[in-house]
Amino acid sequence: MSHIDIETLIVGGGIAGLACAVHLKEHGRSVRLVERNDHLGGVIRTLSEGGYRIETGPNSLFLRPEDPLLDYVVKLGLERAVVQAGLTGKRRFILKGGKPVPLPTSILEAITTPALSLKGKLRLLQEPFIPPYEPNDPEDPTEETVAQFVSRRFGSDFLDWIIDPFVKGVYASSPEILSMEDTFPRLTALEDRYGSIIRGALAMQWGQKPPSSPLTRSIFSFSEGMGLLPKALADRLGTDAGTNAEVIGCTRNSEGFRTALLFDEETYYLHSRHVVLAGSATQTSELLQEISPESEGPLSEIPYAPIAVVSMGFSRKNVSHPLDGFGLLVPTKERRKILGILFSSSLFPGRAPEGQVLLTVFVGGMPNPKLAFAFDEDLIDIVQKEVETILGSKGQPDFLRIQRWEGAIPQYTLGHRTRIERLTETLPEGIHLAGSYLSGVSVSQSFTSGIEAARKILATPPQP
Ligand SMILES: Cc1cc2nc3c(=O)[nH]c(=O)nc-3n(C[C@H](O)[C@H](O)[C@H](O)COP(=O)(O)OP(=O)(O)OC[C@H]3O[C@@H](n4cnc5c(N)ncnc54)[C@H](O)[C@@H]3O)c2cc1C
Repeated sequence: MSHIDIETLIVGGGIAGLACAVHLKEHGRSVRLVERNDHLGGVIRTLSEGGYRIETGPNSLFLRPEDPLLDYVVKLGLERAVVQAGLTGKRRFILKGGKPVPLPTSILEAITTPALSLKGKLRLLQEPFIPPYEPNDPEDPTEETVAQFVSRRFGSDFLDWIIDPFVKGVYASSPEILSMEDTFPRLTALEDRYGSIIRGALAMQWGQKPPSSPLTRSIFSFSEGMGLLPKALADRLGTDAGTNAEVIGCTRNSEGFRTALLFDEETYYLHSRHVVLAGSATQTSELLQEISPESEGPLSEIPYAPIAVVSMGFSRKNVSHPLDGFGLLVPTKERRKILGILFSSSLFPGRAPEGQVLLTVFVGGMPNPKLAFAFDEDLIDIVQKEVETILGSKGQPDFLRIQRWEGAIPQYTLGHRTRIERLTETLPEGIHLAGSYLSGVSVSQSFTSGIEAARKILATPPQP
């Protein structure tokens, strides 16, 4: 007699775990997803407070035609709720000389932009003639950081004023520590194939068909906020997904795995053939201690950037900047205490009450991890002063909320790919991984990691 309760147990109800569970269920496989928090979605969560619609984690989605999430947005009936960032969403600012400067959105603007110096622009034009990197000496590193790659190909001005703030905005990190190949694999592939990023990008553009789905044209969210996505996935799972249940251990048995979970102060055991670990690398390493101690090394070597997200509401008339864009990123050279500011109410409709604006300020990250844990009063003081100096806000905000993420974004530092390969080799059969530390940090890439874990299970015969 089989002692298996369920074919697949999924630990973690973030977007990666949810994607895996829904995909398996759709293919007729039995699943159970357990989440220790009181809500599903992990870092994706939309809250409505004081008339504002706040994102505690991701604010927007960007999809490529090949992303599985594209099909799911349609399949889940979410297209009707899509809100796209219009032209405003294309305009991004960086801080330069203490002033917000728009980044170029066209060739003409690229020539005239004050974001780069004349020397920097001329250096940029040399990129097609720079030879690809070839380590000659055994002492030469085999892998480049983002900073090394970008300064070699595009020059230091482009690194300091374009890439450094971008890396802060997306990875809460610094180009000096991230691996180019693992963080921007598409760009290193262009260098490998065309010998130049600019030549490669132009060649790709000429050969490209116009996007078949409007969802791949620009960044978007949903009218109800990003939280609609995990909600729709959770609806598909119904009672196959449970919250407030923490997985505290996992051991092997003759038919698969025996997983212990804590619910309502009681310990329960679930027997399954497969286990998908869909928490962060740090959380996953704890659960693998007993069945795969050798996985601990590579998992614990993946650093995470902490972030504090400060949502602030102001009366429109109390902010002098027109907020006519996506937001503003802060280059390291500007020596500020914040990573960047999203102009949330300019990006999507319905984010702030009439006559008000919503700003989302990001603090901490790898450049300043301690600040993410500053006392509330200190954090508020810092953020308020920065917003006042940069965007010309006046007085106290009418609304304020702080969200802290201790392990917000995994860092694909030098050696990341080797770490993941080592990890995959050590995994016991029947244990699968999903999450943002595997093949990209975005919501869509994390979703894909869940689908990939599900595909591995689907490739095995179903439980009789
Ligand atoms: C502030 C912020 C802003 C971001 N902005 C964007 C953006 O605009 N666009 C974008 O594409 N991406 C963005 N990202 C990145 C993206 O949101 C995340 O990388 C992605 O959502 C991670 O999903 P996940 O499922 O891998 O992990 P998580 O969301 O962390 O989910 C993991 C879940 O596992 C649960 N768990 C862990 N251990 C256990 C256990 N033992 N038992 C039970 N449950 C457990 C956790 O409680 C958690 O809910 C942002 C991230 C942050 C933090």
